[in-house]
Amino acid sequence: MAVDFEPDPRVAELADRTRRFVREEVIPVEVAHDGVVGSEEVRRRLQAGARAAGVFAPHAAEEFGGHGLDMCGRAAVFEEAGYSLLGPIALNIAAPDEGNVHMLEQIASEEQKARYLAPLAAGDVRSCFAMTEPAPGAGSDPDALSTTATRVPGGWRIDGRKWFITGADGAAFAIVMARTAGEPGDRGGATMFLVDAGNPGMQVGRHIPTLDESLYGGHLEVTFDDCRVGDDAVLGEADQGYRYAQVRLGPARMTHCMRWLGIARRAQDIAVGHAAQRRLFGSRLGDLGMAQAMIADNEIDVAAARGLILRACWELDRGRHAGAEVSIAKTFTAEAVWRVVDRSLQLCGSLGVSGDVLLGRFLREVRPFRIYDGPSETHRWSIARRVVGRHTAGTAGAAGSAGAARPAGVR
Ligand SMILES: Cc1cc2nc3c(=O)[nH]c(=O)nc-3n(C[C@H](O)[C@H](O)[C@H](O)COP(=O)(O)OP(=O)(O)OC[C@H]3O[C@@H](n4cnc5c(N)ncnc54)[C@H](O)[C@@H]3O)c2cc1C
Repeated sequence: MAVDFEPDPRVAELADRTRRFVREEVIPVEVAHDGVVGSEEVRRRLQAGARAAGVFAPHAAEEFGGHGLDMCGRAAVFEEAGYSLLGPIALNIAAPDEGNVHMLEQIASEEQKARYLAPLAAGDVRSCFAMTEPAPGAGSDPDALSTTATRVPGGWRIDGRKWFITGADGAAFAIVMARTAGEPGDRGGATMFLVDAGNPGMQVGRHIPTLDESLYGGHLEVTFDDCRVGDDAVLGEADQGYRYAQVRLGPARMTHCMRWLGIARRAQDIAVGHAAQRRLFGSRLGDLGMAQAMIADNEIDVAAARGLILRACWELDRGRHAGAEVSIAKTFTAEAVWRVVDRSLQLCGSLGVSGDVLLGRFLREVRPFRIYDGPSETHRWSIARRVVGRHTAGTAGAAGSAGAARPAGVR
């Protein structure tokens, strides 16, 4: 069946409203704050604006105050929100809260939904997702998970160290991946836990200084030391954490792509605006061949990324795992967005590296996307394993196909 690229009229209307809201209300705040939210006051003010404009929480189910968009619908609206670094936080669709809302809707019990999902979807609280660990723990290879959760009377005890946990500073709760079976290196055996801020066993440590600064709440170290939680803290079923991670990671990879695609378009608009009026060597910059090539390559990268995102979203909306489509779209988009912002900065010359336009900020913000949500190399490895596995299955029967089709370290 063909992918339908025509958005639902309701989605198109919401995307249009989002476009206007971002341009009229968000970008002035973004420019004034150099692309960094910085404070709860700014976050809450932006979110109040999004509520008033009727564009708040497009991803959340209607019963939680959202618009209930599927993944293809999100692609149209999130790209418009992503046109500003602060658009996603205004609509409450920034990482990691957006992915956590998605996962809690799918997996949480009714009690957990009332306690965690409802205030998160409403923007009353923030959250974080704690998976990655310093070496030798989990990173690209989730099987290296070494944080443990062991049974104690009435619940669990969590011990371990996480880092690069976005938004941990000020989060009301963390969704924590911990090993409940097997040893580091084993497949499976992970469980997700909901841990409240203020739990004396969970210490939110230092802010890790990073290239990027716009993801609100920073990237932090979080330590679990005899952290006690009850059985009601288990998200879904014990030992099913890796399976649940799939529910979050595939869609979250695509929503990151959608948001960063918005920034790529913004960079291109800044560059084209400059190229259309800057005169060089007797003509407009935009009429010089090498500049035209950069402008055209930006258009090609944006269009190709959008097409790949939609293809993966279309599969996800049909309940499919879409591991290959997600890996292809994520790898291409993360690299295309970088290329587009880099070319746009080049087209603007010294203006591009100045603080008078935000292109330097955009460049810093998009670079880590080639690492988080699975580094490009991990996704390429996964893509190649599938292809080689299919070839092996085709030439030597089914043997080897299951292992090779496994979506590797990015799961
Ligand atoms: C800005 C930012 C925000 C983040 N936020 C969160 C968060 O909120 N929660 C969370 O849990 N984690 C978060 N992370 C962590 C992120 O998920 C990890 O950085 C990512 O999974 C890679 O793990 P690692 O950094 O340990 O790199 P490693 O696993 O040590 O990999 C290092 C490098 O090895 C290479 N590599 C990987 N696989 C292969 C392969 N198969 N073949 C060849 N080379 C390969 C890649 O170049 C990779 O960059 C964040 C990271 C960043 C940078």
